Amino acid sequence: MRLVILGGPGSGKSTQARQLCRHLGIVEISSGNILRRAIASQTDLGHKAQPYVEKGELVPDEILIEFMRQRLLQPDTAKGWVLEGYPRTAFQAEELDFLLEDLNQQLDWAIYLTVPESVMMTRSVARSQNQAQDSTPSTKSRLDDHPEIVPRRIELFYERTVPILEYYGYRQKLLTINGNQPSEQVQQNILHKLELDD
Ligand code: AMP
Repeated sequence: MRLVILGGPGSGKSTQARQLCRHLGIVEISSGNILRRAIASQTDLGHKAQPYVEKGELVPDEILIEFMRQRLLQPDTAKGWVLEGYPRTAFQAEELDFLLEDLNQQLDWAIYLTVPESVMMTRSVARSQNQAQDSTPSTKSRLDDHPEIVPRRIELFYERTVPILEYYGYRQKLLTINGNQPSEQVQQNILHKLELDD
């Protein structure tokens, strides 16, 4: 199974991706986590990405596209994957399709978690406040959840990521799920739509 999870900040993408991967026994590839880790360990990718991530801006397409190409060639992806946070622009979505074509693979579904803008805002700000109180190094590195950049992240979601919905809708690959409910319910709805529930 090859899946993409789409949604704005605070839509529950990472929680749902994690649970889906556990359920399906496939690998989760989260572009946000990859970038945060790269920044924390100061790799070449981290150096390139940091100025964008800190401001809540999108990392330039060519950097992410090349990285994802390499990532999807790794052997752990053979059984399938869930991409979380990628693609985030129409260009990334097209490039992902080209890459899959090269690999003779197909995307099964793009799952869109829809939540109202006010929920994106309150969940993201709450997350950043929780992290401010938490002093573990891994959560400290979530520099992209500072409350002052949340509105910009939401704006970019509407500007750059929402157009992808049409791209997948046109290809009949889009599953839209109400993300504004308890996460167990969201997971059940996803499994039901994927016809994986019992
Ligand atoms: P996330 O945790 O998915 O919200 O990602 C955190 C940050 O990483 C974003 O605000 C962007 O700066 C960057 N990022 C993650 N995924 C992408 C992507 N597919 N394209 C561009 N930038 C990204």
